[in-house]
Amino acid sequence: MTVLRSANRKTNVQPPTNFTGVVFSDEIVQGKAPSRMRASVVSFTPGGRTAWHSHPVGQTLYCLSGAGRVQFEGQQVQEIRAGDTVLIPPNTRHWHGSAPDKLFAHLAMSEQTDKGEGTAWFEHVSDTDYNAAPAPVT
Ligand code: MN
Repeated sequence: MTVLRSANRKTNVQPPTNFTGVVFSDEIVQGKAPSRMRASVVSFTPGGRTAWHSHPVGQTLYCLSGAGRVQFEGQQVQEIRAGDTVLIPPNTRHWHGSAPDKLFAHLAMSEQTDKGEGTAWFEHVSDTDYNAAPAPVT
């Protein structure tokens, strides 16, 4: 049995190459083969968001606290809140982050491919795209 102690793991600041604003990540697990599991808690300060990106095997986001935003390319921005689960299909360009005026944290879960391929990163999300009015929550 392995217990990964919180005291031994630092919170990481996410790099400005792939994120806008101040975003923190706490790794939960990076599975060793044959596991492909990857999970982390990502905490976004207001205005913080990922760049556009995609995941080869998709991604599941579970919203832990605050209010966030997620957008699939070509679709309207969606508002997401604590308790919501977002299913992101493989190879689908998208971004996620905080609402402009709220902290937001989600649990991000994904898997690598057989070849060890992970997230593909693209350009930053413009302020215009980020600040677009979200779709009404239904
Ligand atoms: Mn993602």
